[in-house]
Amino acid sequence: MFLTRARIALPDPASVVTPLCAHLVEHEAVVETGPGEARIALAGATATLRYDDAQLEVAVEAAELAALTSLRFAVASHVVEFAPDGKQLRIHWEGDGAGPSLLPGFRVLTVAAIETVTPHMRRIHFAGEDLARYDSLEALHVRLFIPPAGLAEPAWPMLGEDGLPIAPPEDKRPAIRKYTIRSIDAAAGRLAIDFVLHDDAGPGAAFAARAQPGDQVGMAGPGGRGLQSAGRYVFLADATGLPAVGRMLAALPAQATGLAIVEVAGPEEEQALARPEGVTLRWLHRAEGAPSCLAEAFEALDWPADGPDTYLWAAMEHADFLRIRAGARERLRRDRDRHLVVSYWRAGLAEDQHAADKKAAAAKAA
Ligand SMILES: Cc1cc2nc3c(=O)[nH]c(=O)nc-3n(C[C@H](O)[C@H](O)[C@H](O)COP(=O)(O)OP(=O)(O)OC[C@H]3O[C@@H](n4cnc5c(N)ncnc54)[C@H](O)[C@@H]3O)c2cc1C
Repeated sequence: MFLTRARIALPDPASVVTPLCAHLVEHEAVVETGPGEARIALAGATATLRYDDAQLEVAVEAAELAALTSLRFAVASHVVEFAPDGKQLRIHWEGDGAGPSLLPGFRVLTVAAIETVTPHMRRIHFAGEDLARYDSLEALHVRLFIPPAGLAEPAWPMLGEDGLPIAPPEDKRPAIRKYTIRSIDAAAGRLAIDFVLHDDAGPGAAFAARAQPGDQVGMAGPGGRGLQSAGRYVFLADATGLPAVGRMLAALPAQATGLAIVEVAGPEEEQALARPEGVTLRWLHRAEGAPSCLAEAFEALDWPADGPDTYLWAAMEHADFLRIRAGARERLRRDRDRHLVVSYWRAGLAEDQHAADKKAAAAKAA
């Protein structure tokens, strides 16, 4: 068993412990409270919080170090969030996992091999350790931390002695981009990611274009909602959604039926995709500068026939996403959990600006 402890001088600890427990319950923690005490069990770790009028004592224990680090981080970050002047608090952990460490779940990947799938799709095979948490069809995408080009020694975000994250210095800070795990063999310590080599390359596409064996990226996650079981499937994707569609098609049971529509630049960008016999694959070609025809293809589907027990998965550029999501909501109103339509990139915006925009839109809608 791993164990870590911290004593935190804090005025009125109860006013911090109460919202902290309420918040972690929303994240599926099991919380028991008593006078001057709270016990939080979450994802394989347990935190015991004891407090009086001026001090909070926290002990976190877990059978695995990663679980200990995660709960230590959850407690420390929420103490800082809920305490008045939280950023001024001094938190010093002692025991297992104390001292600077990588973020929980963060993995360093090393480029092992590079493959040209099509002229604009590069598959990079990475080697990494302890990849089991990433081996899931429930959550397909990851955040890649891409160090600036030419940096001799990559710098990763770390957890400091207080259990809170420290960003690397600005000139060494990795850019963060979302990508999909195209295939993974956790036991062999290998995974592959397919990168679209697009014009106006940002850090993601530029990394894929220059990558050499031995180069490193960081990885955090995984995230997203995965494949659901259904009687029939409809997939719609542009080149950025193609890696996810390829992975899901390969994982479908042999008797699955459905249709996958994938839009790429031209016939030279088509690729062989393993899939059940009952799933039809239709390629669309988008000539340079021409508008996408994915939304039209969706609108032309005979949805009432496709409707019962059909699951729709769609990922593409933002303008198509808006149109397809609106159509899906109208046609599949009653079955909101039977469709997942996601905006994977936005013309004219870098991924971080796009993500901030999506967050603001979601907050406005809530
Ligand atoms: C959950 C999720 C999973 C994803 N999985 C993958 C994946 O497996 N493979 C993959 O290649 N992409 C994937 N993407 C899309 C990828 O994150 C974006 O394309 C991202 O913008 C690429 O980063 P960048 O640094 O190359 O460009 P950025 O710095 O983000 O953008 C620079 C410029 O390039 C433009 N741009 C970005 N992407 C494209 C594109 N595809 N075509 C043309 N112009 C573009 C932007 O509009 C911007 O003007 C995924 C996105 C999400 C949200």
